[in-house]
Amino acid sequence: MHNQLIEFVRDCYQSQDFIPLHAPTFKGNEKAYVLETLDSTFVSSVGAFVGRMEEMLQDYTGAPKAVATVNGTAALHCALYQAGIGPGDLVLTQALTFVATCNALHQLGAEPVFIDIEPVAFGLCPKAAQAWLAEHAELDDQGQCRHKASGKAIKALLPMHTFGHPAQLDELAALGRQWHLSLIEDAAESLGSFYKGRHTGTLGRFGVLSFNGNKVVTTGGGGMVLCQDQKEGEHLKHLTTTAKVPHPFEFVHDEPGFNYRMPNLNAALGCAQLERLDAMLANKRALAGRYQGFFAGSDYRFVEEPGYGRSNYWLNAVLCPDAQSRDALLQATNASGVMTRPVWRLMHKLPMYSQALRGDLSQSEWAEARLVNLPSSPTEASHA
Ligand SMILES: *Cc1c(COP(=O)(O)O)cnc(C)c1O
Repeated sequence: MHNQLIEFVRDCYQSQDFIPLHAPTFKGNEKAYVLETLDSTFVSSVGAFVGRMEEMLQDYTGAPKAVATVNGTAALHCALYQAGIGPGDLVLTQALTFVATCNALHQLGAEPVFIDIEPVAFGLCPKAAQAWLAEHAELDDQGQCRHKASGKAIKALLPMHTFGHPAQLDELAALGRQWHLSLIEDAAESLGSFYKGRHTGTLGRFGVLSFNGNKVVTTGGGGMVLCQDQKEGEHLKHLTTTAKVPHPFEFVHDEPGFNYRMPNLNAALGCAQLERLDAMLANKRALAGRYQGFFAGSDYRFVEEPGYGRSNYWLNAVLCPDAQSRDALLQATNASGVMTRPVWRLMHKLPMYSQALRGDLSQSEWAEARLVNLPSSPTEASHA
C-alpha cells in the first residue's frame, strides 16, 4: 500500500524530488502585476489591485460586498467584531479546525463551544449543535440566546468548510434562525467550493477567505470578508482602514479601528492568481479523481465531496482504517519525501482551549485518529 501510494503520487507529479502538501504555482500574470505595483510605487494599502481583487471576488462568489484584509485570521477577527461578538460571549464551532478559528474568538475575549462534526464533510454537525443548545441554552426575555449555567450570551454559529468540502449550511442557517445566532462561515479553505450552487461563505452573515501561501489562491498573506449586507460591508471596510473619515488632508478617525487592509503588493499577486482560478480548480478536481480511483476497493476511504455540493478539493484526504495504519502511512510517505500530514490536533486538546465548553466529540475523535492529508498542489499536466 505505502510503496504503491508513493509511486502513484510521484507519477501524478512526474517528480522524484520532495513533494510538498500544497505549493502555489505562478504561471500567469503574477510577476507582471507585482512589478506593476513597484513601478507605480503603490505597494501599500492604497492602490488599484486591492479594489480590483474585491470586485473579482464579488463577481465570482456573488457576495454583495467583499472586504480585503491582511490575512484570514484578521478577516475572521473583524467579521466577528462586526457581528457584535465581544468579551464573555460564546460561539459554537468545531474542535476539528485550524487553530485560527479559535484564535480569532480569543482575540475578542469570546470563547468557543466545541461541537462535533458530521462524518461526511467534517463540518459543524447541525444535529449535534441542536442537541447541545436544547440541553444547555435558552432564549431570554429579549430573545438573546443564553447558556443556562453561566448566563453568558451565545452569539453565533461558526462552521468551517473542512479541506474545502462545504458544510451543511441550510440546516445550520435554520438553527441560527431558531436560536437567534449569526451564521459566520470560516470559508478560509473553500474558495471555489459551492453549497447547492451558492459559493461557500455567502450563506451566512459573513464568510471569511484566506489567501495564505498554502491555500488554493495566494496573495503571500491575505484574507477577505464576504458580506451579505452592503452597509455592514461598508462599515467593515471602514473598520479595517483605521476608521478614518475621508478628508482632503485631516486625520480624523471616528471609532477604534483595525489596520487590516490588504496591501496592493499582495493584491496584485491575488488578481493574477484569480485569473487562473478555474484552471487550478479543474486541475485539483482531476487530481482528486485520480486519488479516488487509487483508493477505490481498499480499506482506506478517500474523502469525497458531499452530494449536495461541489468541493474545490483544496486538500485531498484519506481515512485510514485505524490510528496504527495512519501512523504507518505518515511514517512511510514522509520518510520517502512525499509530504503527508495528520489532521490538526483537536482544539480542546490544546492547552489554551482545554477549558472551553464542549459537547460530545466522538466523530471528531474518530476522524482525528484516521485522517491523513495527501499532496494536493496543482499538477504540471494542465499548466495550472
Ligand atoms: C488558513 C485558515 C485560516 C486563516 O489563516 P491565515 O493564515 O490567517 O490566512 C482560518 N481558518 C482556517 C480553517 C484555515 O484553514
